[in-house]
Amino acid sequence: MDFERTFDIGTDLVSDLDFARVRQWKDQHPGGAVIGYFPVYAPAEIIHAAGMLPVALSGGGDRLDIQHADARFGSFICSIIKTTLEMGLREHLTVFDGVLFSSICDSARNLCFVMKRNFPALYTDFLHLPHNPSSAASIDFLASEYRRLIQELERMGGRPVTAEALNESILLYNRNRQLTRDLYRFRCQNPHLLRAWESYVLVRAGNVIPVEEHNQLLQDALAQLPSRSGRPRDSIRIVAEGAFCEQPPLDLIKLVEDVGCYVVDDDFAIGRSWFVEDVPTEDDPIHALAESYVNRAVYSSVRHDFRAPRWEGLATKVKQARADAVLFLIAKFCEPAYFDYVLFKKKLDEIGVPHLLLEFEEKQFTFDRVRTEVETFVESLVFD
Ligand code: SF4
Repeated sequence: MDFERTFDIGTDLVSDLDFARVRQWKDQHPGGAVIGYFPVYAPAEIIHAAGMLPVALSGGGDRLDIQHADARFGSFICSIIKTTLEMGLREHLTVFDGVLFSSICDSARNLCFVMKRNFPALYTDFLHLPHNPSSAASIDFLASEYRRLIQELERMGGRPVTAEALNESILLYNRNRQLTRDLYRFRCQNPHLLRAWESYVLVRAGNVIPVEEHNQLLQDALAQLPSRSGRPRDSIRIVAEGAFCEQPPLDLIKLVEDVGCYVVDDDFAIGRSWFVEDVPTEDDPIHALAESYVNRAVYSSVRHDFRAPRWEGLATKVKQARADAVLFLIAKFCEPAYFDYVLFKKKLDEIGVPHLLLEFEEKQFTFDRVRTEVETFVESLVFD
């Protein structure tokens, strides 16, 4: 297959609201269950070790009209909350046997229970992720949450989740995260050979296909990319920050690069590269997963870690990516991203890194104003 087609396939996968590939997996695995999880993070290793297919939900993008979900929420709620419920109400989620939510924000917490009420036959669960990594109890607490999840999955007909199966799954996902980090590193060093939207669809494709297939896809891409042709453009290097949960429209990511930016790092679909180091494989892999959440996770606006301030994480990211500026891409009504924007902005001002804030919604079709804002920002940097 022509390598360039890979990006079309990735685009089709991330745009498919009917989860055709997931349905295909289910046909090939009679009796197999599919567990969806709401962004940002879920222990996919546990679902995989139970013989089930973990699928990361990413909202309805720009392909779904809200007809019913508005009636179930107040007005000032981000789009992904509404489109996720709408997908359920419009029967796009019928392939799922269960859905998992976690404590990322009040809206996600509420969505879990709205889903439970609207779809009583669907296994709907809420994972309490620890908020205080400094507490000695955090790891044990999370390990007990993971054991509770395992019991639920086994009760649903998943195979027994043995330590051996969990360690095998951890190795597969470690490989997946390593390949994702390699892809990001390649793009940072060669932004003229791999555009941000291209790496985005390659990475996000892993939301809906088995990890084994996704590892192969990333490995093949990394082998092919160095021989791609492309001349360096006269662009400024930016880090995109703030779109860790609801995802910006693909056309918006393309536009940012078209008007003169190289997006050399970002936090799109951040759950796919959640750990900065491999999760260890050990006799008690549940403990290893919990310990990794507490001690090896990326910085994120939905994960609190007073030991490592998030604004320092952003400053380090900017430095490592040799970025000229930061572009905040924040979903409308996303409280965690807007709260952190204040802290990030203060830090960037302190260290003299220019920044621009753009608000987006999943369903956005006109980008004229955004184009003008980014163009003006780029010009101000180029002619400074
Ligand atoms: S986009 Fe922000 S507010 Fe909306 S569910 Fe995600 S974290 Fe919560």
